[in-house]
Amino acid sequence: DSVFANVVQAPEDPILGVTVAYNKDPSPAKLNLGVGAYRTEEGKPIVLNVVRKAEQLLVNDPSHLKEYLPILGLADFNKLTAKLILGADSPAVLENRIATAQCLSGTGSLRVGSEFLARHYHQHTIYIPQPTWGNHPKVFTSGGLNVKSYRYYDPTTRGLDLQGLLEDLNAADAGSVVLFHACAHNPTGVDPTPEQWEQIRQLVRSKGLLPFFDSAYQGFASGSLDEDAQSVRMFVADGGECFIAQSYAKNMGLYGERVGALSIVCKAADVASRVESQLKLVVRPMYSNPPIHGASIVAKVLKDKDLYDEWTAELKGMADRIISMRQQLFDALTARGTPGDWSHIIKQIGMFTFTGLNAEQVSFMRNEYHIYMTSDGRISMAGLSSRTVPHLADAIHAAVT
Ligand code: PMP
Repeated sequence: DSVFANVVQAPEDPILGVTVAYNKDPSPAKLNLGVGAYRTEEGKPIVLNVVRKAEQLLVNDPSHLKEYLPILGLADFNKLTAKLILGADSPAVLENRIATAQCLSGTGSLRVGSEFLARHYHQHTIYIPQPTWGNHPKVFTSGGLNVKSYRYYDPTTRGLDLQGLLEDLNAADAGSVVLFHACAHNPTGVDPTPEQWEQIRQLVRSKGLLPFFDSAYQGFASGSLDEDAQSVRMFVADGGECFIAQSYAKNMGLYGERVGALSIVCKAADVASRVESQLKLVVRPMYSNPPIHGASIVAKVLKDKDLYDEWTAELKGMADRIISMRQQLFDALTARGTPGDWSHIIKQIGMFTFTGLNAEQVSFMRNEYHIYMTSDGRISMAGLSSRTVPHLADAIHAAVT
């Protein structure tokens, strides 16, 4: 008998499992709105032109080797990625108060941040929004933190529950870590306004909470890298500490390259330098050092003005297509006279629409229309095209009537 005979079958991941089910469906009409990856109008994945160019430059550069990177990754990448999220003129950047580690995309950055907090921070409780990306509680629990949640979304208004959020953070244990989505909150598509962020910032600072920003969609929400970084920059402008996890999966389309960064903004340069030294001790026994290829692409794009401009144009193209899908879906439901208020589809921001469809309606749409989404009714707008909008609108109409 196998020594593993008692291992039980694990359930599929609730998000990635949607694609597993989709792949098994033989219907030609099937539509995968589960996974958060960009697709063109033709429904195809793309590699950005600017990424192809940067890769070509790397291939032709004899100084580009396959040597190990240092434990915290490519130094150029780390400097540039901190500037991208904080702004080149950020006092934290100018004063060298940031410890940055190149990590395995957004997930790896969150995990390294969590491990660092578990070792070096006195408070091991992290508050995450309710709801949030399904992997958050698992990453932080595995990373040694205790996870609690704060109210975020109000299903009756399909908007932010600001009152609940402020009450819950006000009642949080002193020094608790608080996770925020920098922009394009996943799965709700609901972000605080700048005024609401300011209220949240004041509470966080007055209570001595430690903000941890998950920035997985910079530039993808509004089409502007600066606009989508405003929340983070507000919290850095006040001189206080914060953690930032960045991902280049969506905004540079580098999903499988696993490029991201953890930045820890400190109050002084000497603290940042000691924090950086400890980050190395977190990373070394986990994976020694991060991969070189994707970070080299990002560094090239961020360093070169022409490549950077080309990137921002392509990024805006992706963001604009998603925004136009929102309008088309809204118009299609309006044209069908589908009962209910669907204005949240055009109000929400980022890759996802939190439709408000319940688990039963979701499974109806899967069984009858071969449309796949997570059971919370979240659909990826990036997986939609002008061609498939009518099919989705028909399915939603049938599901709610
Ligand atoms: N945070 C959020 C909110 C996300 O939606 C995602 C991607 N779905 C991630 C982090 C991390 O993604 P990755 O590890 O691919 O960068």
